Amino acid sequence: MKILTQHIDVPGIETIDVFMKNGGYKAVEKAIKTMTPDEVTEEVKKSGLRGRGGAGFPVGMKWSFLAKPEGVPRYLVCNADESEPGTFKDHYLMWKTPHTLIEGMIVSSFALGANTSYIYVRGELMYVINILEKAIQEAYDKGLLGKNILGSGYDLDLFVQPGGGAYICGEETALLESLEGKRGNPRNKPPFPAVKGLWQSPTVVNNVESISATSWIVNNGGDAYAAIGVGRSTGTKLISASGHIKKPGVYEIPLGITVEEFIYSDAYCGGIRDGHKLKAVVAGGSSVPILSAENILTTEAGEKRLMTYESLSEGGFATGTMLGSGGFIVMDETTCIVHNTLTFARFYHHESCGQCSPCREGTGWMDKVIKRIETGKGRMEDIDLLVDVAKKIEGNTICPLGDAASWPVAAAIRHFSDEFEWHVTHPEEATKPGAVYMRP
Ligand code: NAD
Ligand code: SF4
Repeated sequence: MKILTQHIDVPGIETIDVFMKNGGYKAVEKAIKTMTPDEVTEEVKKSGLRGRGGAGFPVGMKWSFLAKPEGVPRYLVCNADESEPGTFKDHYLMWKTPHTLIEGMIVSSFALGANTSYIYVRGELMYVINILEKAIQEAYDKGLLGKNILGSGYDLDLFVQPGGGAYICGEETALLESLEGKRGNPRNKPPFPAVKGLWQSPTVVNNVESISATSWIVNNGGDAYAAIGVGRSTGTKLISASGHIKKPGVYEIPLGITVEEFIYSDAYCGGIRDGHKLKAVVAGGSSVPILSAENILTTEAGEKRLMTYESLSEGGFATGTMLGSGGFIVMDETTCIVHNTLTFARFYHHESCGQCSPCREGTGWMDKVIKRIETGKGRMEDIDLLVDVAKKIEGNTICPLGDAASWPVAAAIRHFSDEFEWHVTHPEEATKPGAVYMRP
């Protein structure tokens, strides 16, 4: 079942003519000519589409929270900053089929009553920015953007804004600050952007993948989208698969397949590389808890874990994780979990904006203490210290970066405490080049 990537391999699909020959921009025509903005929103609500950036917040509900004061402009901002380690699906979609996003931007902006919209793209992706700008110009030339779109009286201008390459600018309020030309510091929420967003005006911030799915929903109806998937995890999801698998890449899956099928079937990852076995998985980008092989394949209740928001988090953080952004990182037995945790901890320390003390100081502490353990200078009490610092960051910060920094550390210790202990008790062995702890 392919929705977003159905035509991704058609030669020339990045051009508007080929895109239109393959059914592109029909949703714009249908929405603008035959539906009201509220009807489009209603279909998106019915679809059950949830935010694909990581939080999984229902898109239609977010749209219906948008404040509509008289005479105040509203904005749609597409979050294309995609900086989460292990996540590269938005990048792939924009690069291969930019009109899929642009069509979704038009349909979604129409539903929200926005006349100016932005795509905020991670600054390092200049070539993607060029692709998007070319595609946007093609849409203007066909009368799909600009004044009086398709003679409907609806106007929309669409701009691409390169980001500065900071991870924190993917946090929606930091992104808005950056878009306003300021340093990308997250704002306190509430007020949510739906009430006070860009230039203090009502703003919806949605991920590339979420916005791109809205055209299919308009064409086929919310019920058809909701019929795909399981329970509250409807539709398809792009998964960025990386690590020690035979076939890394971006896969569009119907939500609800088993994790086992995703890792081992030839349709997706094709299994673990030859001669090795699964050790751990980070299922939703670096911000979510890591799981051991047993926990990722099977839930606490002994059932096969599914690729859904609910099943991946079943058991809470004791045995579960999160679907997050779908950054699926697979590790085999050659991976040192302490080293991997250090890599993540260093990343969050480096990317913390420094506004709140628990995050600014705590991420630094975690980085230093894990480094101490990794280099054979750790003490047994350092492991408890790490758990303590992680707990003190969690829930005590302005934005989710604090939680994102603390969860991977706490989860690594929860599932691989023996590996951390071995580094403390066997410093010489653990610091030999390429040394990895093997569970007896
Ligand atoms: P969140 O749960 O705070 O918010 C989700 C969305 O719902 C936001 O847009 C928020 O404004 C909106 N919202 C929530 N309650 C609302 C209300 N009452 N009224 C109006 N709007 C409301 O999470 P978040 O900060 O958007 O995202 C965190 C997630 O981002 C993490 O779980 C992580 O997985 C993911 N993430 C992704 C990337 C990436 O590159 N894709 C990078 C970092 C983090
Ligand atoms: Fe900045 Fe970290 Fe606070 Fe987020 S949690 S606002 S990144 S210091």
